[in-house]
Amino acid sequence: RFISFEGPDGAGKTSVISAIQEWLTQKYGKQAVLLTREPGGNRISEQIRQILFDDHNTNMDARTEALLFAAARRQHIVEDIEPALQAGKFVLSDRYVDSSVAYQGGGRHLGADDIWELNQFAIHGLLPDLTIYLDIPSELGLERISKHRQNQVNRLDREKLRFHQDVRNAYLTLAQRHQKRIQLIDASQPLPTVINMVQEMIQNRFNL
Ligand code: C5P
Ligand code: MG
Repeated sequence: RFISFEGPDGAGKTSVISAIQEWLTQKYGKQAVLLTREPGGNRISEQIRQILFDDHNTNMDARTEALLFAAARRQHIVEDIEPALQAGKFVLSDRYVDSSVAYQGGGRHLGADDIWELNQFAIHGLLPDLTIYLDIPSELGLERISKHRQNQVNRLDREKLRFHQDVRNAYLTLAQRHQKRIQLIDASQPLPTVINMVQEMIQNRFNL
């Protein structure tokens, strides 16, 4: 039972995912849930994350960036996601393959199809059973970030409105193309409402 959480910056992904973790943990116990994030999870993927987010790497080529995200994803699958799924856990991943399609494909204009293809090599068939896409208008997302995150910005957090609009549009196209897997939620609603809707989607998808 593999669930990924997606969305533009400022959609509230982090708050929603931790509420869902708590909810599933209360229902099924701590051992039954793995909360993990991309890029990261293990030593190799965290090292790749450092490279990606390093403020000195302003000269990083967009394709290099896409390849590094895909590499971190591969290692995350092998070391973290697959073992947890084998053990019968719920795996909650903060971002997965759709993030690359949206950010590198849309935001960086590398093309959604090419980034999707690149990532097929990395994921080798492992798609989530359910993807929760928290949708938010770019202006509102950016406004939320500037309020809450002034002190923890990194290289990838400095993009302009246009970039975020391209990211969101790529997400919306993905949600259209993968209607069975991706569930869209309007994340401009109050947080408790959003959390309730996500719980319902998970219950429906897995017959809980
Ligand atoms: O997951 P989180 O919102 O913390 O993402 C950290 C940063 O990485 C954000 O600024 C996001 O825009 C960026 N990112 C990216 N490409 C991805 C995934 C995340 O540029 N594939
Ligand atoms: Mg975040």
